[in-house]
Amino acid sequence: MRPPERWPLHPAPAATESLSSWLRRTASSYGMYSHQLLEHALGHRELSDAELDLNPPRYLLDELAKRTGLDQHRVQAMTMAGWVPWLFDSLTPAPDAYETYVHQFSVLLPPTRRQIYTPRKWLPWLAETRVLRGCRECLKSGPTILLFWQLPLMASCPVHRHRLETYEGHPADYIKWTTSAEDQRELPDSLFLMDRCTWQAIATGSVDLPRRSVHAGVWFRLLRTLLDELSAPQGRYGRQLEDVRRVWDHCGNPFRAGLHTWQPFETLHWTRQQQLLEAAAAAMEMIEAGSLTALGTSAHLLRPEPKAPISSGTPPGPPTARAGAQKQPTLDELWNTVTTTLDACITAAKTDPMVAKHLFDFAHYGCRSEESVRALKDAFAELQIPLDSLSQTKGKKPFA
Ligand SMILES: [Zn+2]
Repeated sequence: MRPPERWPLHPAPAATESLSSWLRRTASSYGMYSHQLLEHALGHRELSDAELDLNPPRYLLDELAKRTGLDQHRVQAMTMAGWVPWLFDSLTPAPDAYETYVHQFSVLLPPTRRQIYTPRKWLPWLAETRVLRGCRECLKSGPTILLFWQLPLMASCPVHRHRLETYEGHPADYIKWTTSAEDQRELPDSLFLMDRCTWQAIATGSVDLPRRSVHAGVWFRLLRTLLDELSAPQGRYGRQLEDVRRVWDHCGNPFRAGLHTWQPFETLHWTRQQQLLEAAAAAMEMIEAGSLTALGTSAHLLRPEPKAPISSGTPPGPPTARAGAQKQPTLDELWNTVTTTLDACITAAKTDPMVAKHLFDFAHYGCRSEESVRALKDAFAELQIPLDSLSQTKGKKPFA
């Protein structure tokens, strides 16, 4: 059998470049259009950019890999299909796809508070109509289109710190920027930081969160969960309504991005999608700062580590043990430190189940009878420190 002909010219794909973009650049090095390259060199019918970038036939990808000497995985990664199961569970819509993807985690709201929707033919991040987006600065240096620009997964370019903008045309030949004035607002720091996490997920396969690094698949689902929670009907927020309103006030966008009836994020206009991404970024910032109540079972991933005396679960050693040369604190100063620390612990324990557990374990140490344990639980209830959330999180009753 004759070995497949290797194409002499084949520009290296840029990181996360889309297949349609790479094929167009490859074809142009022969003075051709990509559909001509497909037809003349591979005998394949013309495919639209959307078809090429979503889920093109596997044999076509294998053939492209052979012709260019690229690794098969590298060619596949230029298509959405190459991102199953990290970014997508599957590219075949299923009735329970929404629940599987969006309800696996919870951040702001307890899982039972959220309504499970079953939008038809739903796939995460993908809309039926393709929106062209790009970074104006990136496109100045060449017509390389990134696969992820097509998805409402992030709103900015991590290199140029610019918002992505919508356009019409093909950047190599003709481009008309169509961004509305409303979408040219300054990029908030929190959104830039969140987008940087998303880029980290794409580029490295994991994201460094305050407590630990999580797999990219977890990050994409956490983000999609937060977007769902922030667009939930008002009645679902219960006593957290004011908190959620503060998130929207913080980013200066209308409550629920102005939605009157529920719609999946993917079908919203880009302006609303950006508002929701801004709200998600603001919520993440506020959760990390401890200024937002987050009752979801995965909220702890977005919080910083509790301060040392709490995380160790043991009381701090005597102050004389360290830095002997330092002046001895007075009893008043010591007491001040104790009460300030305790206040900080109680505040943190109200929103962080892990801190609540450590605080409870610490206080529980001195309890010798059921009665004293009950009294301790009452004291926690009075201080509004939720103990139930932890037992739900772990699926057992740590305080029993
Ligand atoms: Zn850029």
